[in-house]
Amino acid sequence: MIEETIFSKIIRKELPSDMLYQDELVTAFRDINPQRPTHVLIIPNRHIPTVDDVTPEDEAAMGRMISVARKIARDEGIDQKGYRLIINCGEHGRQEVPHIHMHMLGGDDVGPMLS
Ligand code: 5GP
Repeated sequence: MIEETIFSKIIRKELPSDMLYQDELVTAFRDINPQRPTHVLIIPNRHIPTVDDVTPEDEAAMGRMISVARKIARDEGIDQKGYRLIINCGEHGRQEVPHIHMHMLGGDDVGPMLS
């Protein structure tokens, strides 16, 4: 059993967060250390450590993460200008929290992809 992270506590509302969305599959909340005017983390409710651990059963949650990003873009008013979605994976991907999370960055030009 791989240990849960702080994100599981956020999902269960045992820890505070600025939560924007939650359903039976995914949760979205603002990053505590925003890198852009809009910086939201969209995560599966099931504790999946990395994208490399995704199974076919997780496909619905992975798809929902994209749908929720689209909804939040509209709610935040950043859909017209666009935004970036990033999922880091593992050590070389610089993933710090071992619970899959998709970063949604927008509100201004996010800059070149690799920096
Ligand atoms: P990673 O580097 O793993 O892709 O990104 C982890 C992200 O989680 C970072 O952007 C960091 O600011 C965010 N984060 C870490 N701990 C917390 C927390 O307790 N609450 C929130 N809202 N974000 C967090």
